[in-house]
Amino acid sequence: MPSAGDWAALRARLGDRLVLPQDVGYDRLRLPHNTVYAHRRPAAIARCTRPEDVQACLEFASHQRIPIAARSGKHSYAGYSAPENGLVVDLRGMSGVQVSGNSVRIGAGAHMLEVYEAISAAGQALPAGTCRSVGIGGLTLSGGISVIGRRYGLTCDHLTSATIVTPDGCLRTVSAHEEPDLFWALRGGGGGNFGIVTQFTFRTDPAPDLAVFSATFPAGSSADVCDAWQEWIGDLPDELWSGCGVRGGSPPEVELYGTYVGPAKDLHRLLDRLPTGERTVWEMSYLEAMHHFAGAAEEGAAYVASSRMLRRRVPGAQVATLLDGQRDASVQFDSFGGAIGRVAPDATAFPHRDAIASAQTYVKVIDRTEAESRRVLASLRDGLGAGTTGYVGYIDPEMPDWPAAYYGRNLARLREVARRYDPDRVLAFPQGL
Ligand SMILES: Cc1cc2nc3c(=O)[nH]c(=O)nc-3n(C[C@H](O)[C@H](O)[C@H](O)COP(=O)(O)OP(=O)(O)OC[C@H]3O[C@@H](n4cnc5c(N)ncnc54)[C@H](O)[C@@H]3O)c2cc1C
Repeated sequence: MPSAGDWAALRARLGDRLVLPQDVGYDRLRLPHNTVYAHRRPAAIARCTRPEDVQACLEFASHQRIPIAARSGKHSYAGYSAPENGLVVDLRGMSGVQVSGNSVRIGAGAHMLEVYEAISAAGQALPAGTCRSVGIGGLTLSGGISVIGRRYGLTCDHLTSATIVTPDGCLRTVSAHEEPDLFWALRGGGGGNFGIVTQFTFRTDPAPDLAVFSATFPAGSSADVCDAWQEWIGDLPDELWSGCGVRGGSPPEVELYGTYVGPAKDLHRLLDRLPTGERTVWEMSYLEAMHHFAGAAEEGAAYVASSRMLRRRVPGAQVATLLDGQRDASVQFDSFGGAIGRVAPDATAFPHRDAIASAQTYVKVIDRTEAESRRVLASLRDGLGAGTTGYVGYIDPEMPDWPAAYYGRNLARLREVARRYDPDRVLAFPQGL
């Protein structure tokens, strides 16, 4: 471990932006969103406000051989932005959002709602995540699933350039023309690999008006609705994105929800093809819709989660059986296809372009121990029978054969890029490339 003198040398560069365990605020600052990892005690948290701070941190970690992790929105499912005895590079102080025409520069520490508020004020839109405090950093590097994704693609599909500090301490600008392999890897290669991004630049589109819907169904209908939803999404315009959430219980409950880029009357016509349920449709501006999906502000939660990418339908009866009596467990299906599927699987590092949907499996850690919750989670993840691949944004520390699951055929090229930019494995973490 670094000596007090070593930390003093880093403090000479960062000032009181370096927070050590004995400093005021450390216990609040160290906490990840997933409180299953609330026990983690990083050696220090560097509240970076400029790329030079990030450079100082990477030079320090590389020299001292201690773990280091970037932190944008703290939402890593596996708590990877809170490394035990490591240095947290907190990017919250770098969260500016500047729109210029159909382009936006976003500091890596920005949260979803901050992004939506700033870009919609300029009449622009970006497909990005739902939860209000998910960070643009971890989301973009994973791919970025959005409620308008079938019409506009993944978040990473809109990335035009990024500035990144690589483990050698260099601040680099990457784009299709500058360091194209690294630029390719940043679009789906997963958070925590290759370097620490300080700023992203995205292409935006004019903000659309949206029709948003939610539909609930009588008790006992989750299997049928799940089947009907999967059939329905096979033949829909790109403008319609939807999800199907099945919550464990006796019996399990099902809800459908989604957005349509267009007027409510056109959405109603498409919804009429679904089983009859309690349907609500709202017309909303882009920003109103993003607020709607962002939900209430929450400080943190204890959960274990995982995912599978669906290439073919999963029988609804199987989903209902898996969740029968499993209070606090759920499976959430998000539809893919449309603009997401029109990008070649090797055009960016995100490999799951042919998926019909993602399935996020989730178990709250409330009345069970973490180990028991993980057993339930594994039974859901593997019991779906939906193949062996998953979404790196929902990173699961117990994902079987995780490198192939998350990266598929892009794995070899990603490892080559990681070796080139991080030959000494400064950024190593349990599921790092
Ligand atoms: C409540 C909730 C809602 C979600 N909703 C969505 C959604 O709608 N769509 C979707 O696609 N995903 C969603 N996710 C998943 C989310 O995209 C991932 O958890 C993502 O990794 C979170 O990024 P973060 O910056 O908030 O997390 P962090 O914990 O800060 O970072 C996650 C990982 O990325 C690394 N990282 C973070 N910033 C950088 C950076 N600037 N440079 C290099 N590495 C970095 C970290 O070291 C860590 O390994 C959701 C997650 C949660 C918990």
